[in-house]
Amino acid sequence: MKIGIYPGSFDPITYGHIDIIERAAKITDKLIVSVLNNSAKNPLFSVNERVEMIKKAVEGFDNVEVESFEGLTVDYCKAKKASFMIRGLRAVTDFEYELQLAQTNRALYDKVDTVFLLTNLNYAYLSSSAVKQVIKYGGDVSKFVPQYVEAKLKEKYSK
Ligand code: ADP
Repeated sequence: MKIGIYPGSFDPITYGHIDIIERAAKITDKLIVSVLNNSAKNPLFSVNERVEMIKKAVEGFDNVEVESFEGLTVDYCKAKKASFMIRGLRAVTDFEYELQLAQTNRALYDKVDTVFLLTNLNYAYLSSSAVKQVIKYGGDVSKFVPQYVEAKLKEKYSK
């Protein structure tokens, strides 16, 4: 069975991530979307909140699971017996960082391959940080995130 891990911060999940999940689910037998618990990133949403939002987004897929993890992604992949790690590429600006990350991961553990997927062009400019900026200043994010994510964002910024 080909297991893929799609790791990330997902703070919060956007239509860009969902597009990658849809594509990744087609090329794996089981896809595990995993929220990295990295407090150094100072996230807006707790790990649980992020997991819950992703679970709603993947309700329609029967081969997708959602979890969280701490520590090295390669150790997590090893524990889950994953063959691939999925990463999304938006533009060339992502490439250098992602290449460095993938080569480092390969040096640590060469039994997991990083697979890069490209989003639909409509989402190629989209990032969780941009969504947070827009909502913070009262903009409309309905084209970028599902409605329940928008509601959670509004709740955070109204506090
Ligand atoms: P990170 O894991 O770097 O903290 P994210 O959680 O935002 O960042 O993203 C997780 C993965 O999804 C990364 O591989 C990132 O490049 C990819 N990604 C994020 N937004 C998009 C998008 N709009 N289109 C394609 N890939 C994306």
